[in-house]
Amino acid sequence: MKKVFFLDRDGVIIEDANYLSSPEQVVLCPGTPEAFRMIKAAGYEIVVVSNQSGIARGYFTYDDLAKVEKHIENCLTDAGAPLPAGWYYCPHHKKGSVAEYAVDCDCRKPKPGLLLAAKKELDIDCGESFIIGDKVSDLESGFAAGCKAGVLVLTGHGTEQELKPLEKPYETAPEILEAVKLLLKKGSVPNKG
Ligand SMILES: [Zn+2]
Repeated sequence: MKKVFFLDRDGVIIEDANYLSSPEQVVLCPGTPEAFRMIKAAGYEIVVVSNQSGIARGYFTYDDLAKVEKHIENCLTDAGAPLPAGWYYCPHHKKGSVAEYAVDCDCRKPKPGLLLAAKKELDIDCGESFIIGDKVSDLESGFAAGCKAGVLVLTGHGTEQELKPLEKPYETAPEILEAVKLLLKKGSVPNKG
């Protein structure tokens, strides 16, 4: 089984832009390439899990989303960083305008559906995996999927978050690279039963 870092996209690996829809808006966060190298070097895979309700809202399409994803991969490659093993998106929003996606789904974070889909498809051991996000709802989805630990980064929406207690304690870090360093320390500690 694989152990992974589940990473939110906007505000964690790329700079947050409201309903980002085109490759020209993509800017990697400064620590992302090094964070990705460190994750892989430690024996983990990277899985991106991202709410993209802009699809349900009619702001952009799956095709636009795929172009953005491809561009992020090109930026990572140019920066000498490894690529994610999977990209998982929730296109839904119950108040959306595109009927097909205007549903109350099981994959919009804080629900764990994206992580559980990845777990099944990629054979992931969630108990040895981590979640990093810029919203408390990212961490909630990670813990609901059984992740070992999570870190809230203070990029993106991180500083606006109300730090409510979750089922597991979590720490904050200034950005993705520091978050990865914190979690890799935890990764070296075996699970107790
Ligand atoms: Zn969904």
